Amino acid sequence: MSKVIISVKDLVKKYGSFTAVKSISFDVMEGEIFGLLGPNGAGKSTTLEIIETLRDKTSGEVLVDGCNLDTEAASIKKIIGVQLQTSGYYPGLNLTELIKLFAGLYNREVNPIDLLKKVNLEDKAKNKFKELSGGQKQRFSIATTLINQPKIIFLDEPTTGLDPQARRNLWDLIKNIREQGTTVIITTHYMDEAEQLCDRIAIMDQGKIIQLDSPENMIDKLVATGFERPKQVKAANLEDVFIHLTGREMRDE
Ligand code: ADP
Repeated sequence: MSKVIISVKDLVKKYGSFTAVKSISFDVMEGEIFGLLGPNGAGKSTTLEIIETLRDKTSGEVLVDGCNLDTEAASIKKIIGVQLQTSGYYPGLNLTELIKLFAGLYNREVNPIDLLKKVNLEDKAKNKFKELSGGQKQRFSIATTLINQPKIIFLDEPTTGLDPQARRNLWDLIKNIREQGTTVIITTHYMDEAEQLCDRIAIMDQGKIIQLDSPENMIDKLVATGFERPKQVKAANLEDVFIHLTGREMRDE
């Protein structure tokens, strides 16, 4: 049985008189891919930024790998990986130089090529960020979360705007990172992605968690209520056609 790596209890966040997060509680287990889903404004970013030590909470308790957010935020920072704002990607530096720069910020020695290999970008080591395709940019952004060899990484809509091949490639990469033992917290608006990737999902709406379960159990629960999808008339969809015609291989290498 795996252990709890993130524990959130009765978390509340108020912005003035508006309560964005309304006393939510949930646990993330070590080694899982945990999805936080919900419409815009649900409170996902607020929740994640509090756990990432980037935003103050109003009340509640957050433990990350046993460290209390109130007293051990510095220890939490050391074991988590967050995607850096692309505005920090100095345009004059290539990928190798950017990794060295970020490693310096974390006070870590990193072999940039080893890290780029993990995300299949070793060929681009001397390229600038702006010279990468959309999928490559996202892969680089994921690489930056791994610089401090974190126990947990946070991925914010990592496949938004990517083509179907690049999305599948990113899914493989994320699964691979999890297989190395890293816990992954991910937000996405793509339900197929959440279904493919996540072991468990919390669905947030208006500051509350309205359901938390595995994708499979969530679907079974809905079906048990008597829900029926409008009849599928075709055995494939347009995405199947696209992948069938263009193949699964990446195009932007
Ligand atoms: P999500 O990530 O699910 O889209 P957010 O956590 O960004 O949701 O926002 C939740 C709610 O809190 C929204 O109504 C948003 O407008 C509000 N909000 C977020 N950040 C601030 C802020 N700095 N000041 C005031 N309200 C905010």
